Amino acid sequence: MQSLRLNALHELFANSKFSEVPPSKKITSFFGENVFDLKKAREFMSDEAYKSLVSSIKNQTKIDRKMGDQIASALKAWAESKNVTHYTHWFQPLTGATAEKHDSFFTLKGDGSALEEFDGAALIQQEPDASSFPSGGIRATFEARGYTAWDPSSPPFIIEMGNGKTLCIPTIFVSYTGESLDAKTPLLKSAVALEKAAVDVCQYFDKNITSVKPTLGWEQEYFVVDASIASGRPDLTTTGRTVFGHAPAKGQQLEDHYFGAIPERVYSFMRDFEEEAYKLGIPLKTRHNEVAPSQFECAPIFEEVNIAVDHNILLMDVMTRVAKRHNLMVLLHEKPFAKINGSGKHNNWSMATNTGVNLLGPGKTPKTNLMFLAFFVNTIKAVHDHADLLRASIASAGNDHRLGANEAPPAIISIFIGKYLTDVLNEVEKRVGNKFDEQDEAMLKLDIHKSIPELMLDNTDRNRTSPFAFTGNKFEFRAVGSSANCASAMTVLNTIIAETLTQFKQDVDGLIENGEKKEIALMQTIQKYIVDSKKILFEGDGYSHAWEKEAEQRGLPNIKTTPLALDAFVTEQSEKVFERHGIYTKKELEARHEILLENYTKKIQIEARVIGDLASTYVLPAAIKYQNVLIKNIKGLKELGFDENSYSSQSQIVQKISEHINVIGPKVKAMIEARKVANEIENSREKAIMYCDDVKKYFDEIRYHVDKLELLVDDEYWELPKYRELLFLR
Ligand code: ADP
Ligand code: MG
Repeated sequence: MQSLRLNALHELFANSKFSEVPPSKKITSFFGENVFDLKKAREFMSDEAYKSLVSSIKNQTKIDRKMGDQIASALKAWAESKNVTHYTHWFQPLTGATAEKHDSFFTLKGDGSALEEFDGAALIQQEPDASSFPSGGIRATFEARGYTAWDPSSPPFIIEMGNGKTLCIPTIFVSYTGESLDAKTPLLKSAVALEKAAVDVCQYFDKNITSVKPTLGWEQEYFVVDASIASGRPDLTTTGRTVFGHAPAKGQQLEDHYFGAIPERVYSFMRDFEEEAYKLGIPLKTRHNEVAPSQFECAPIFEEVNIAVDHNILLMDVMTRVAKRHNLMVLLHEKPFAKINGSGKHNNWSMATNTGVNLLGPGKTPKTNLMFLAFFVNTIKAVHDHADLLRASIASAGNDHRLGANEAPPAIISIFIGKYLTDVLNEVEKRVGNKFDEQDEAMLKLDIHKSIPELMLDNTDRNRTSPFAFTGNKFEFRAVGSSANCASAMTVLNTIIAETLTQFKQDVDGLIENGEKKEIALMQTIQKYIVDSKKILFEGDGYSHAWEKEAEQRGLPNIKTTPLALDAFVTEQSEKVFERHGIYTKKELEARHEILLENYTKKIQIEARVIGDLASTYVLPAAIKYQNVLIKNIKGLKELGFDENSYSSQSQIVQKISEHINVIGPKVKAMIEARKVANEIENSREKAIMYCDDVKKYFDEIRYHVDKLELLVDDEYWELPKYRELLFLR
């Protein structure tokens, strides 16, 4: 029987055609058609219900039962006009995926008559079984139940799967005692905290600013591979990454993939998922190739953070689903292939006011620039003071391959702001005195638009190595993993900015109470914050060894592994910050910490199993089979009277294969033993550390020898599809 691998390759060449998608249409002609946005709400609702919905979105007010019924019935009318039969509360449990529990509108009345029903109660609250979702000990001490509750700030949408259609209602997921069990609840709370703190500070500059919303524009990187070929890799299908595989002869050395032409089959897939995304109101804007072969990126126009997070999670889902139609597989893992760039998800973040001002966009006048400078410097200070929390917010087993290794942003959190703004900060640091004079005014005439070319220039080299960079009118948090839910990073970022802005207001008010003029109080506080936090600013090469050393001298943390990075969530300081702003209670933080540690342990555990299985049932048998062929050949030659010279190469290969086999076997055994020891440990943190230090260390050691065997063993005996086949065939 031919191996799965050879079959898949055969198939790929036999059916090199791919499913074409219908011709493009004007995007505006169908954008948002599957979303119950305010325009549709207006159409399907009474004035009264519409007003109550709008007010609840704007002011986070509760919707009463009567209005709930009216909104539900409008929602049902709209959904039925689109032939929807089922609805579900859609939420984001801490497993990293989304969860749904479908119910039909269909119901039977007491007299047996059938009808379609959906009321306010069904819209507003539902009870999925919380016991199957991670809740980190909260479950043990409280009731095992949780419920989902409608989040009116994110509009309901329809998911089409085949010919079936489901109405999805974005919800939060909380326990009966009020603890959040999902990613969305704390994110919403953090946006509220940020809004409050930011509006307070805005009041120094503009009394008309009554609302500030954090904004997010993510850039999603991903790989695309042929699904048949990928299905021959149990490691890819179970862990999302290849645990073995020798680098192909041609990797990314030539860097010819970046911005290159998109291969036709992938292009067709992109157009297909983009169309679904547009129907769902996801405002995708760009698509292009990435640095590595078969790696791509897409990015939308930025939105309010809550909506942007929902859209990203939704898109990851849509991409995975649509890929199947094209017999492709999307890899969202941070490091699907060794020795080739990994994938990240840059989080472009800023704050927008109700007056239409981007608080990280420099203005035209000294007064608006003072506001810009205040928010700019507060962000730097927040990142400086809470770098450990930001690092923790992006920690995962997958992301360790990027942050801990020599690529992508390093694990050291630093900020890149470019030469122009560095000069501005230096100037402020030097100059600010006890009066605010014309020279200060002149200093605030920032010409940021002139510095943009400089930023763009930096973008192509050193700046790319920075985990947190200012890019003209927003900060870009680049260390977020490609498979992550952005909510984690955004919750922390919003919270630490809220914390810093709150402190900032106290400091400025303090000076004003002491009789300083407002501008001087602001400038002096800004100056102080620059001095306090400038060690986080770094303009050099973030990948270099020199930076690691310098960062250490500067006292910046460099935590390379997830189990240790997560400690930041449960320090006294973090607990205070999160509690002060109403994001997490101590109990919730501890629960989350535990869930994240358990997630990590499970991932490494699964990878260890896959490595053991593949080595024992794929790699060693292939090596032994080929070795037997060689031995037979040598024996034959001997029998025919040939001397040693005539089979010396064969003998050498036989010898080498034995050497590798005899390392792999014992190492797999040792890894299994280490796992057994780790499994005995009760404490989640110690267990995760043991998996990280004592189990994971075998991964690369085993891999080294497996990859050597791949180069020795006859191609026909090698069952695992090779890198060149995964990366270059489609
Ligand atoms: P690049 O970073 O590749 O130069 P852009 O500057 O156009 O590209 O933007 C990258 C991402 O940043 C996009 O998703 C965009 O929507 C987002 N972005 C732009 N402005 C903001 C903002 N004020 N807040 C949040 N995200 C933003
Ligand atoms: Mg970018």
